Amino acid sequence: MRVPNPPDAVPGAEIIRQLQRHGIQDARLLQVMSSISRAQLLPPETRDQALIDGAVPIGCEQTMSQPVVVAAMTQALRLRGAERVLEIGTGSGYQTAVLSRLAAEVFTVERLPTLSLRARGILDGNGSENIHYRIGDGTLGWPEEAPFDRIIVTAGAPTFPTELFRQLIENGILVVPIGDDEGQQLTVVRKSNGEPISEEIMACRFVKLIGQEGWFAC
Ligand code: SAH
Repeated sequence: MRVPNPPDAVPGAEIIRQLQRHGIQDARLLQVMSSISRAQLLPPETRDQALIDGAVPIGCEQTMSQPVVVAAMTQALRLRGAERVLEIGTGSGYQTAVLSRLAAEVFTVERLPTLSLRARGILDGNGSENIHYRIGDGTLGWPEEAPFDRIIVTAGAPTFPTELFRQLIENGILVVPIGDDEGQQLTVVRKSNGEPISEEIMACRFVKLIGQEGWFAC
């Protein structure tokens, strides 16, 4: 009799292979990312694309990020486990799930209710208890919970997000793609004596960050 693989054994191994091909070596990050099912967080229409090495549509004209981009952004946050992290752009909830395993608390904001509620339904079902959800314009941050040790923006900002930077603690790290429709630079910003010290780490292409300090809604 053929014994089936445990449901996630093969997909997990494939994610590890992809990330290693892209030069990601952090063992803890590989372990966490391979233990979270992309398929489970995708809508039925695109679930069969869970193992592609790219972004995948999640409905509402949005996408789940490519695993290597999730890995690069997460690494740039330098999480040690005790941080309170603000994430802008819950989307599918994949990046949210990764953060929830590596930080103490995750505050995630999504402007589209359909996506926020779907991600929450799945992640709650998985027993993730350190995630707090909000529906609204994430460019304004989450003032009641600020300041944050880390802030990650998973949509492309047209300009430097000043309000989010304001909600970052001293020595905190903000990771944000900044650019236009054609593409952005993944920018890592550290707050030092209240001032931003920025470094561009890779070219990327995200959907638009739409809001008061983002692009206009169309
Ligand atoms: N990390 C997500 C990325 C989703 S795409 C994933 O891997 O699935 C980016 C998300 O940002 C979209 O869901 C989009 O609706 C959301 N978004 C865009 N502008 C936003 C804003 N101002 N506030 C909160 N979410 C926003």
